[in-house]
Amino acid sequence: MSTWSLEEWEGKANTDEHLVTYQLHITLQQAQQIRVGCLARFLFPAGHYLYTGSARRNLSARVRRHLSRQKKRRWHIDYLLMASAARVTAVGLFSETECRCNQRINGEILLSGFGASDCRAQCGSHLKYLGNKADK
Ligand SMILES: [Zn+2]
Repeated sequence: MSTWSLEEWEGKANTDEHLVTYQLHITLQQAQQIRVGCLARFLFPAGHYLYTGSARRNLSARVRRHLSRQKKRRWHIDYLLMASAARVTAVGLFSETECRCNQRINGEILLSGFGASDCRAQCGSHLKYLGNKADK
């Protein structure tokens, strides 16, 4: 098992030192127009998103920061997560690289370059849209 509830993920992150990659399961409760840093203003459709990132050190501190709504916007994902309709619903934790985990996801790239400034594996985006089915 690699996906954890908001209550469970931190205990897991703190006990397995091989974990370097996280995936945020994000629900956007309604379509929302969001300006993403230096990328353009974009209308994100309602539905489910997966964002993949990594932290070689202090993985749990990084994920905690993403879950906090009080922060200065720094990364692309901050702009999405601080949108009023956005909720993180679960956290995935992995020992593989972020690009490998990201490329495994069968989702749609809506905004090219999102979260992929440091990507060397041609992911295109580290945010993928999974659609708006209620069962996800
Ligand atoms: Zn990548």
